[in-house]
Amino acid sequence: MSIISPVRERFATELGELAALTDSSRPGWTRRALSEEDVAGRDYARTLMKQAGLETRIDGAGNVIGLLRGRLGGREIMLGSHTDTVDGGGRFDGITGVLGAIEVVRLLRENDVRLDHDLVIVVFFNEEPNDFGLFCVGSRAMTGLVDRSTLAAVDPTGRTLAEALPESAIDPEAFLNARYDFARVTAFLELHIEQGPELERAGRQIGVVETITGINHFRALFTGRQDHAGTTPMDVRADAGCAAAGTVLAVESIAGSGENTRGTCGQISFTPEAVNVVSQNAVVEGEFRGPEGSWLHEAQRRLTDAAAAEASRRGVSVEVEWTTDDAPVPLHEPVTSTIASVADDLGLSRATMFSGAGHDAGIIAAKTRVGMVFVPSVDGRSHCPEEFTDLDDIMPGVSVLLETVLRVDRWYAG
Ligand SMILES: [Zn+2]
Repeated sequence: MSIISPVRERFATELGELAALTDSSRPGWTRRALSEEDVAGRDYARTLMKQAGLETRIDGAGNVIGLLRGRLGGREIMLGSHTDTVDGGGRFDGITGVLGAIEVVRLLRENDVRLDHDLVIVVFFNEEPNDFGLFCVGSRAMTGLVDRSTLAAVDPTGRTLAEALPESAIDPEAFLNARYDFARVTAFLELHIEQGPELERAGRQIGVVETITGINHFRALFTGRQDHAGTTPMDVRADAGCAAAGTVLAVESIAGSGENTRGTCGQISFTPEAVNVVSQNAVVEGEFRGPEGSWLHEAQRRLTDAAAAEASRRGVSVEVEWTTDDAPVPLHEPVTSTIASVADDLGLSRATMFSGAGHDAGIIAAKTRVGMVFVPSVDGRSHCPEEFTDLDDIMPGVSVLLETVLRVDRWYAG
């Protein structure tokens, strides 16, 4: 069957409408999970799904799930992405894949194409990191990776996730029981913006993702001694802030030691926070990412050692806690090679990619065959208001998604 072209105008309208559902008190395009705007964003997507002819429901974890029944049914092809954003984020991260998946449904129906498989569209709840130190929350619930310790996670105000979920109409008990039956899913596909510069640099239209990065998050708590900043000689201080600062630089140095490896400390705090007081406590939160599990484990060991060294030479104590330890995820070769041949057959240029960003697809990959399709990001910018992908660059991604669905549909085996 020849490819059906996605409809640019309606995609543009919906992208504009969904992107506009933002928290006006925050910079950029902010629609953080567990906010009113996030509820509105998922409602908007659900309305589009219904209009496209999907039977919709919201599972116990707040994931919006739409179903287009197939000719044979019983087996499913699943597409999905997210509608939440980071604070001060952009207009394309997540919603490109959600709207692309809904467009696939419409194109199938408008062209009287009936799949053998049921087609399932998922808008995953809370993909981006929340204030409870958790991310990919909806996809983890669907794959059975949440438990009572997830509900007990606390935000900086001491509130638990179990207390916060009901504000988004999610019942904590239902949240624990939102496991999805992936045995019937033949494959999961996610369209997403690249969020980095590689496709643009290479002048390619489609990124075929081979591996999704592993991510390790840590929290290092330094305890020193609070002293007067003017009267305490430098050689007798136990400055927790300085030990924390040394650890930030250690992350930078360790991160530079591998290929496609990254390290960042995005959060640091000193207590008491006063310009003329030596810090008693300091907390650094950071992360490492990379395509190799062995490198990530080595980075964990080196960072733990570096923090201990920075602390001990200042008479400070430290505890390093690894709060996330997600291994790199290789995607499913037959799915990725199908995406590659689809791009070739449609005359689109392509590149094989490593994703330095985490995705729900990486969580779902533990349960079924997963592939990801990337489209370019201007200047590689993402998680910022400047994030941009031209519609002329998104439409080829939607075409690849649709044609890949049609080819995977031939894998039906009841
Ligand atoms: Zn995303």
